[in-house]
Amino acid sequence: MARQQSPEARMTTVHHSCARGCTRFGLHLSACEDRDACRGCMPRDAEYGWLCVSCHNDLERWLGGGTDGAHAVWVHLGRAQGGISSTPTDADHRGGGETVEPLRLAIFDTRRMLSDRIFIYGERLREVLNMKQPVGRFDIAKEARFLYTRLAAIEAEADFVTWMFGDEAMSADDVCGHGLQGVMVRAHMVAPWRGAPLRLPAPCPECERLSLVMYGTAVDPAARVAGNDSIGCTTRGCGVSITPEWYGVWVKTLAEEATA
Ligand SMILES: [Zn+2]
Ligand SMILES: [Zn+2]
Ligand SMILES: [Zn+2]
Repeated sequence: MARQQSPEARMTTVHHSCARGCTRFGLHLSACEDRDACRGCMPRDAEYGWLCVSCHNDLERWLGGGTDGAHAVWVHLGRAQGGISSTPTDADHRGGGETVEPLRLAIFDTRRMLSDRIFIYGERLREVLNMKQPVGRFDIAKEARFLYTRLAAIEAEADFVTWMFGDEAMSADDVCGHGLQGVMVRAHMVAPWRGAPLRLPAPCPECERLSLVMYGTAVDPAARVAGNDSIGCTTRGCGVSITPEWYGVWVKTLAEEATA
């Protein structure tokens, strides 16, 4: 497999698969032995360095300035943690505050994991770019922005992106993994911040099923804030992640095809 190409080489010649092993729903390699059981084994093309567009969208969201971004989630977890000790809950009626302690600790732990991850990604990126490591206090907002603005350099390194997603840690004992993806999943489990997903009327561009949902900050679509929404497919084996902008283009394409 070709490794660590420069961005210029990437644009002109290379065609390779997403380093995370993403596959295309319902499309199979000729060697596929069980097309009934297999949900799709054809690798998805990498379009952003070593990442497919779906993985790129996730990374962009987790490092960006929206409500799914590392800094906003870190602030949110801090508030959630503080809120637990002062707000009476159902658990309090059943026998005192100690029942909420595990949740408070889980939030504390997740929040620390999140800042640790951002810290080590920044450290590694500076090594890749031959930059000096910063001295002084760590600022998660600043560091996430540093990573976000140099996403292309991260995506140019196959082992950097797989490590960042925590792919190496995915196992039965550790369903969340230790990567950014795992931390984000865990953060939303211990202290949700997104509104209920909104079902979208257009079929998924990947699996063609009516299984696209939009996650946003507000349950009321009219109250949603641009840049904070993301769209994902809930079909098992697909799970593609697209941006609302891309969805807009897709809907227009479908409408044009329907009238052509
Ligand atoms: Zn297959
Ligand atoms: Zn991918
Ligand atoms: Zn799908």
